[in-house]
Amino acid sequence: MPDNRRFLLRRRPDGTPVREDFELVTEPTPELAEGEFLIRNHYASLDPAMRGWMDAEGNYMPPIPLDAPVRASTIGVVEESRAEGFAPGQWVMGLNAIEDYSIGVAGGFAQPIDPSLVPSVTNYLSIFGAVGMTAYFGFLEVCEPKEGETVLVTGAAGAVGSIVGQLAKIRGCRAIGIAGGPEKCARLVERYGFDAAIDYRGKDEAALTRAIAEAAPDGVDVIFENVGGIILDAGLMNLNLKGRVGLCGLISEYNTEPRGIRNLWQLIVKRADIRGLLVADYVPRFGEGAAKMGEWVAAGKIVTDEHVDEGIENTFDSFMRLFAGSNQGKMILKIA
Ligand code: NAP
Repeated sequence: MPDNRRFLLRRRPDGTPVREDFELVTEPTPELAEGEFLIRNHYASLDPAMRGWMDAEGNYMPPIPLDAPVRASTIGVVEESRAEGFAPGQWVMGLNAIEDYSIGVAGGFAQPIDPSLVPSVTNYLSIFGAVGMTAYFGFLEVCEPKEGETVLVTGAAGAVGSIVGQLAKIRGCRAIGIAGGPEKCARLVERYGFDAAIDYRGKDEAALTRAIAEAAPDGVDVIFENVGGIILDAGLMNLNLKGRVGLCGLISEYNTEPRGIRNLWQLIVKRADIRGLLVADYVPRFGEGAAKMGEWVAAGKIVTDEHVDEGIENTFDSFMRLFAGSNQGKMILKIA
């Protein structure tokens, strides 16, 4: 059996993660038991939610145990197998960990995937994976956008946000995106087709509220929220009567004490709804979402970007891009 490099969680981050919270170790790969197969991980998905898994409380998943490898969705190739239905050479995708080799079990999370069906096998971690499905079901089903409505997307240049903006255009909505910095804002309009972009950097809540009002003079009907904090509060101040807020993420609070929502009263004034969404609820319908997404990608109506960093030894720096905003698209780590 080959050696296995594994990216371990050594201690729970106190606020923003630091390098010393993790350690890359080399261990022997365990022998396979009956019903198991060995996955050579090629790519790992780096997701903001992993930050919550590092805390003692976890989030919608239990916490990663200390001294265990950091949990992540990966795609890889079966190298050896003692499980029926998983032959060597088969590509699989599953919830594994950041390590060279993971053990899969028949009937577990790992599912066969077919790279010949997609432009790049990494698309299973982006547009045709959880990210694309979060945008698809979270926006279209939870937010129920209607033609002619104005949609505000926060974290708009990111993996989920950039797809939501394009879905809003497909639905005939006006799309306004909020992102960090002039480059990302230019990309929102030029590449993803948003009607307007707002750079949140350097703006306090009052300035953000004004900027949204300028971009959406008739108010906002739907907010697709990825960020929280003052960005969400500024959005709420611009919400229209019967507005809908799809709460997808609160990344501005993942490394800090939550600030909370201060303008919740706007939901009363506007008789508006706020609803949390979790992509895991839609797993049984991923096939349906991916098929529709495939049609739009083939028709050139949706473009998708992936930011692929190379090397398991760079996991920490790549993961931290999500919080620095230096990822240009879905953050993926190439392990092999
Ligand atoms: P992403 O948007 O590709 O990357 C994260 C982006 O968040 C960064 O590039 C950065 O963009 C922005 N950001 C980071 N810290 C910020 C802060 N303090 N204030 C404002 N913006 C900040 O990541 P993603 O995978 O698409 O995830 C986006 C959100 O969706 C996250 O909140 C995530 O937890 C959530 N999510 C939820 C589900 C679900 O099922 N509910 C599923 C997937 C993802 P800027 O440069 O623009 O700041």
